[in-house]
Amino acid sequence: MPNRPAQPGFETLAIHAGQEPDPLTGAVVPPIYQVSTFKQDGVGGLRGGYEYARSGNPTRTALETCLAALEAPHLPDAVGLAFASGLAAEDTLIRALCRPGDHVVLPHDAYGGTYRLFTKVAGPWGLHVNPVNVTDIDLLRKAIVPGRTRLVWIETPSNPLLSIADIAAVADVTHEAGALLVVDNTFASPYLQQPIALGADIVVHSTTKYAGGHSDVVGGALVVADPEVGATLAFHQNAQGSIAGPFDSWLTLRGLKTLGVRMDRHSANARTVAEYLVEHPAVSQVFWPGLPGHPGHEIAARQMRDFGGMVSFRVAAGEQAAVDICGRTEVFTLGESLGGVESLIEHPARMTHASVAGSPLEVPADLVRLSVGIESIEDLVADLAVALDG
Ligand SMILES: *Cc1c(COP(=O)(O)O)cnc(C)c1O
Repeated sequence: MPNRPAQPGFETLAIHAGQEPDPLTGAVVPPIYQVSTFKQDGVGGLRGGYEYARSGNPTRTALETCLAALEAPHLPDAVGLAFASGLAAEDTLIRALCRPGDHVVLPHDAYGGTYRLFTKVAGPWGLHVNPVNVTDIDLLRKAIVPGRTRLVWIETPSNPLLSIADIAAVADVTHEAGALLVVDNTFASPYLQQPIALGADIVVHSTTKYAGGHSDVVGGALVVADPEVGATLAFHQNAQGSIAGPFDSWLTLRGLKTLGVRMDRHSANARTVAEYLVEHPAVSQVFWPGLPGHPGHEIAARQMRDFGGMVSFRVAAGEQAAVDICGRTEVFTLGESLGGVESLIEHPARMTHASVAGSPLEVPADLVRLSVGIESIEDLVADLAVALDG
């Protein structure tokens, strides 16, 4: 007798987890429940547990169930939560799990908005934040204050320099000190990397990026391994209220269905682009974890399925030349954000990372960041060739 596998594969979960056909009509895609309140069958007689759409909405539930299944397929009690943006998810996490006086370790090359939230919003409220090079486990160990460090936060690959932290090693050091490990998995997506299986306690996403994948929705998510911590975060999601709306949830869920095939193509195109840039005389350094010379290459090869679609490079002729290149591409659109099907180019020092100028997170002024999309690779390489040759 043939058997179906006990554990469905990633793409099957992406298309089906939380997305059973609608019980009323058989619609194969979860409908957009554009509604704020639900009829009760007698006081307290909730149908399916829904009473008010901040507390829960079926379209959001479908997304949250799918996200938990994709990040932690081995943990049926993992909790997925969807938010209005990545930063809304982070803000909820901070206020749910940290108290004034607590200490948090952040990567020295954290996403600028994360750094701003921790230092400018949570800082004045009493949180102590310490930016550290989290690729160096000894530095990380020294930065952790046992008893006071509540969270160790990492991003791998990081933005915009694509540095790689060893998730399993960081988890060990974090747990020895009684802290929780949070991994921002936005750049890799759960298709390329599943931090919870490597020891992370909580995964954070800007679903605006690869999860949504089409540059048409802003959203965020948390996936929590421990259901008790998950319940605390779910309480705060409702109490603070920065939820994902039904249409945004639906768009994100639609994006997730093709995450696997998109990430394969993003990674393949990024490989060709990175290998092209390495050979180009106008380029002094290329950052892509799939390159054998990248300092995090071996760790990335161990903990990721492939190396993703983000590539950064430094321009030998300096800042103005880097800015000029960003203005000369046509297939690569000049713009912030990343992770959509269309390729984007940007100058981090003047755009996404302008807010961290003068801080430990400052990025090189001659750096260009690419979000390599899934257009025809010949067109992407030709576009860069024209832009680089000026
Ligand atoms: C964009 C981004 C965020 C913030 O997410 P928003 O959806 O813009 O609020 C957090 N982390 C990383 C790595 C990001 O790229």
